[in-house]
Amino acid sequence: MLQGKTALVTGSTSGIGLGVAIGLAREGANVIMNGFGDTEACRQQVAAAGLAKHIRLGFHGADMSKPDEIRNMMDYAAKEFGGVDILVNNAGIQHVSPVEDFPVEKWDAIIAINLSSSFHTTRLALPGMKQKNWGRVINIASAHGLVASAHKSAYVASKHGIVGFTKSVALETATTGITVNAICPGWVLTPLVQKQIDDRAARELADLAVFLCSKGADNVRGVAWNVDGGWVAQ
Ligand code: NAD
Repeated sequence: MLQGKTALVTGSTSGIGLGVAIGLAREGANVIMNGFGDTEACRQQVAAAGLAKHIRLGFHGADMSKPDEIRNMMDYAAKEFGGVDILVNNAGIQHVSPVEDFPVEKWDAIIAINLSSSFHTTRLALPGMKQKNWGRVINIASAHGLVASAHKSAYVASKHGIVGFTKSVALETATTGITVNAICPGWVLTPLVQKQIDDRAARELADLAVFLCSKGADNVRGVAWNVDGGWVAQ
């Protein structure tokens, strides 16, 4: 379904980003991965998922808190892959603390990585998408983009911010072939079955990302779609 398209998934060396990268590779998209840590094993997983469709796999280690490095990554995508057709803004971090004790540098890092990085990738990806009149921007927000919890002020602010950013850019692209949406995963704290839940949740989120890239989602625009077992419906 996605053969000939190139997907950039930020923060795809682990967790949800890796699951989405695998899901898009399985559909035949070329994938550019990004993130920290040991990249070898996760690169192999994405390559294996796309093997039957002969996908091309790239990697760029840009630090998503640094606009200059994000620009380098987008230049790499343009040069090596002819641009980004599917942009999945997924990289994110968390810090938990009462607001009066919240470390200033943690606040700045959370806003930079969870929110501002998506502004930078999106502003740099949109001109190429507009030229092709096709594109998908999928922002991995959170249930915390819709509701709050105590002691997560920076995270909740960043995730509410990304939901607002999603809506605004969806309006700016509403008459084009580019759609912009957010996925809002929930969080289930059950250490005993955490690994199974993580795997299943990543797969569900990948399926939703693949749907958002499909023809059937051509007019799904500006939504913040919760995948949280009904948490925010309360
Ligand atoms: P994770 O920690 O497993 O993965 C985070 C990824 O981001 C890793 O690949 C990491 O290397 C990368 N990353 C972190 N800082 C980076 C930086 N400065 N530059 C580049 N890459 C960086 O996290 P996850 O649980 O898979 O979360 C992914 C996204 O989903 C985040 O935006 C998170 O807020 C969101 N989310 C997660 C949950 C959950 O329950 N896990 C729930 C709601 C939303």
